[in-house]
Amino acid sequence: MPSLPAVAAETLLQRPLDGVAGLTPAVVRSLVKEGVETIADVLALLPFRHEDRQRMEGQTFQPSEAPSCHHVLVMKTGVKFFGSRRGGGNFEAVVQHTDANALGQPLTLRWWNMPFMARAIAEGQELIIHGKIKDWKGRLSMDHPEYEVIKGDEDDEAVTIHAGRITPIYRLRGSLTQKGVRLAAWHGLRALPEHFVEDILPPPKTEGEFAGWNRSRGLREAHFPSSLESLEQARRYLALEEFYLYQLRVVRRRRDVLASGGRSLKGDGRLLSAFLQALPFSLTEAQARCVKEIAGDMASNAPMNRLLHGDVGSGKTVVAFASMLTAVEAGAQAALMAPTQILAEQHARNARKWLEPLGLRVALLTGSKKEDGSGMELFGANGDRPHVLIGTHALLHDASLVHDLGLVVIDEQHKFGVAQRAKLIQQGITPDVLVMTATPIPRTLTLTIYGDLDVSTIDQRPQQGTKIVTKVRPKTKMDEAAKFLREQIEGGRQGYLVYPLIEESEKLDAGAATKGHEQWSKLLKPLNVGLLHGRMSADEKEAVMKTFRDGAVTALVSTTVIEVGVDVPNATVMYIHDAGRFGLAQLHQLRGRIGRGAHSSFCVLFVDEKDEEAKERLAIMEETSDGFKIAEEDLKRRGPGNVLGHAQSGQAPLRFAELLADTRLVRLARAIAERTLDEDPTLSKPEHVKLREFAFEARETPKEMLQ
Ligand code: ADP
Ligand code: MG
Repeated sequence: MPSLPAVAAETLLQRPLDGVAGLTPAVVRSLVKEGVETIADVLALLPFRHEDRQRMEGQTFQPSEAPSCHHVLVMKTGVKFFGSRRGGGNFEAVVQHTDANALGQPLTLRWWNMPFMARAIAEGQELIIHGKIKDWKGRLSMDHPEYEVIKGDEDDEAVTIHAGRITPIYRLRGSLTQKGVRLAAWHGLRALPEHFVEDILPPPKTEGEFAGWNRSRGLREAHFPSSLESLEQARRYLALEEFYLYQLRVVRRRRDVLASGGRSLKGDGRLLSAFLQALPFSLTEAQARCVKEIAGDMASNAPMNRLLHGDVGSGKTVVAFASMLTAVEAGAQAALMAPTQILAEQHARNARKWLEPLGLRVALLTGSKKEDGSGMELFGANGDRPHVLIGTHALLHDASLVHDLGLVVIDEQHKFGVAQRAKLIQQGITPDVLVMTATPIPRTLTLTIYGDLDVSTIDQRPQQGTKIVTKVRPKTKMDEAAKFLREQIEGGRQGYLVYPLIEESEKLDAGAATKGHEQWSKLLKPLNVGLLHGRMSADEKEAVMKTFRDGAVTALVSTTVIEVGVDVPNATVMYIHDAGRFGLAQLHQLRGRIGRGAHSSFCVLFVDEKDEEAKERLAIMEETSDGFKIAEEDLKRRGPGNVLGHAQSGQAPLRFAELLADTRLVRLARAIAERTLDEDPTLSKPEHVKLREFAFEARETPKEMLQ
């Protein structure tokens, strides 16, 4: 008999689930319905946490602070109704250990206000439960336990796969169940040889942290770990793979930029010193350092690719202008791109005030202005090209204006992204690039998202004088708030009344703000209350901003369109409605719109009186106005995945984002990526072909590769 051809491991991984021994058709059906069709698909559903069910507690229930795990039989169930509230009621199930020798008191499982649990749990069922046992007035109880219903014929599996071990808990969707996914992962892994998948990382050094690890082992241990230590190491190994892929991309990008051929832009300092002298203040030390770092990059022959990173109000604009002047001194053109038209107009106003007196021609170019041709009037009478271009991304589309572009400054990078630079390079323009962001990002995160950039940080505020007092208050205090705002306005100040974005929908979002506008118009009668939201055209928005800036409107109801960069120093009050809907970083950005002038400022975060979570979470806003501290708190609470999600729009959230806080791991990924690209700069070797797609951005996310 001829020997069977060897089946490649990769093919085994692609085996459909219905050929896997040990899985019932019902289990397979529930998975296939959700698109989980192969063993590879199941393994890609990484558990989001594990429960230590290694020790199943024996025969008695003991109250304890530590959760414990039990195999129990349901003896009785019932719903305890309370009060007169319709639909309310607690579901309770009284259980005893299945062990025939079980002793002592039974345990009462309680699900508060969830009477519908009666549909899930019934007398006579066996359950695996996991939770804390409390002694409540002599009765033993467990509230909202993790539980699984065990069906009789799978009893053996129940205690070996679902319990009696460190048990994986998966994120479920649709028809998926914990038991179903767990069974599929278990039997799927059992059907595979020891090495069932190609490695992404080059083989680890024989000594060192990851000696003996490979992708197959990492996946096995991530699902069914042999110990808690091994689980931790598996997660780190898989995270390293993922970080490695991102590092391949940023290191490759960085090398591309360096190879794109730059030029040296050296100024004689003539314009710069006139500019600095005309400013009504002197630069902070941090600003001066950043100006110097940037000038150093510009003077070098290599192209600049730098991030200017500074909290709201740290004074990034002045630094940007200083750098633009250096470009102009060197005989080149400079451009400043803003994420919104409001911001572009604001930058243009500053540029007219500060740069035109130095003899520079400044052109403002935005989508709407260009359409009616009025952008052109900004040219000098003799048709001279502008020295400085300011606009939204529309700016890049007008090749006739772009002439000898030496420096591009991109404000608020997280809305613009690296794509802009790529677009310029495609057009054959390789200017120095400075991106600015006010999102305070801890160092390890900058290494990952902005790993292709050098970083300058403005870590110092210009004015220590004015303070912002922040309070979290129940929304029932609106009348008092209105009274306070009216006093401030009568004293000559102005205020913002901010409404949240609802479910990312501009329509609903505008609706909430419009309602708020009616309410505040009544509360503040007869004052003129302005309204600004995302559904207005750019010109309408700018017109409203103008009335606010000029002081004709003293209170402005707005959605988060004012989040970035808006600078009206006379505004001293900000009320944020439904503040519980915002992330901390976003609240910090919003609050940065006040406290910009000489007057003390006041920010009130309105929350639902009963929303304890929001009150507790927002408390830090009362304590500090340090963006980095707030960002760290945000990181701790939401994990970098979410914090990052905002900053790196377009990229899939990382699966092991929480491990990004581990600097060592990120640096290791970087070092390995550098080595790979040293050996094979175009990733053309057969073992690198797969990496190539992601590193060269033919593929947006590493998702499929990591399956
Ligand atoms: P951001 O970093 O948030 O973009 P801006 O550039 O808008 O900050 O600056 C905030 C405010 O601080 C502006 O009104 C600006 O004129 C002022 N400012 C900038 N630098 C200084 C400084 N060194 N001393 C005093 N005020 C400054
Ligand atoms: Mg700014």
